Amino acid sequence: MKTYILAIGLVLAIVARGNAAPAPEVVVTIAPLHSLVQGVMGETGTAELLLRGTASPHDFQLKPSQMKMMQRARVVFYIGENLETFLVRALEALPENVDKVAMMDQPGMTILDVREGGNWEEHDHSAHGHQDGDAHHHHDHEAVNPHIWLDPANAIVMIKTIAKELSAVHPENRSAYKANALSMISEIEASDEQVKAMLTPVKNVPFIVFHDAYPYYEKRYGLTAVGSIVLESGEAASAKRIADLRQKVKDSGAVCIFREPQFSDKLSLVVAEGTEAKIGTLDPIGANLTPGPGLYSALLKDIADGMVACLNQ
Ligand SMILES: [Zn+2]
Repeated sequence: MKTYILAIGLVLAIVARGNAAPAPEVVVTIAPLHSLVQGVMGETGTAELLLRGTASPHDFQLKPSQMKMMQRARVVFYIGENLETFLVRALEALPENVDKVAMMDQPGMTILDVREGGNWEEHDHSAHGHQDGDAHHHHDHEAVNPHIWLDPANAIVMIKTIAKELSAVHPENRSAYKANALSMISEIEASDEQVKAMLTPVKNVPFIVFHDAYPYYEKRYGLTAVGSIVLESGEAASAKRIADLRQKVKDSGAVCIFREPQFSDKLSLVVAEGTEAKIGTLDPIGANLTPGPGLYSALLKDIADGMVACLNQ
């Protein structure tokens, strides 16, 4: 009889779990950051990734189900309000007990300014959610380039932050987080060395990027980016605009124009036509890589592969 009741209890417990999967405790916006978070969590749990595939953080919109999920989370990790502009209002609406961790605000993070003028496209402020003029106090952030994860030194600062934040939520896992963080860091340092060696032969070959997502990477590896084609928001390309962009490619001596899987490549192709430049592909967010602990290092190498394939002469 006792066994019978136990068995029923077990079945009920399984049914209850099946009906309501436990809400994820840890929510992360973009795949490179998710990779670092999952790497630190290891076997202790699973982090939820908000933006999958070719979704771009610059124009993403939260689904109501994702908003609900964040309300039940313990920690939300993101890059910063001028990357994930879609989060600004959502974060304000979250309960106070949800930890909101902006990587951009962490001490020790290298932050670079947005490039404007010359061959760099003007910065489109309306694309960053400030069009309603409701006095968000992030004006000093607007001149900052948000693609901070593409410097591996920044990734290491992020890993340390993640381990600290997760340890506050689950002190019992502190030593596991620490061990995982250390092994992530040595993996990234090894990839960094590999990428440095891969890129050395093409360091001085000039190229144009689709949008200004790579200054952290360029600085780290001493690369020669000479301009951009468009900013985050799509814009209609007039004949005059295309002629200007072609002239820019010629003037800059760019050997390559890099497109991105997040954006239509029509503009890049039209611009490249009638110039000497080749078309390459760079993916700053890991759209075509498998999410998980290995994604970050794979992303560093994937960008290097894309650069070498197009810049090698
Ligand atoms: Zn971007």
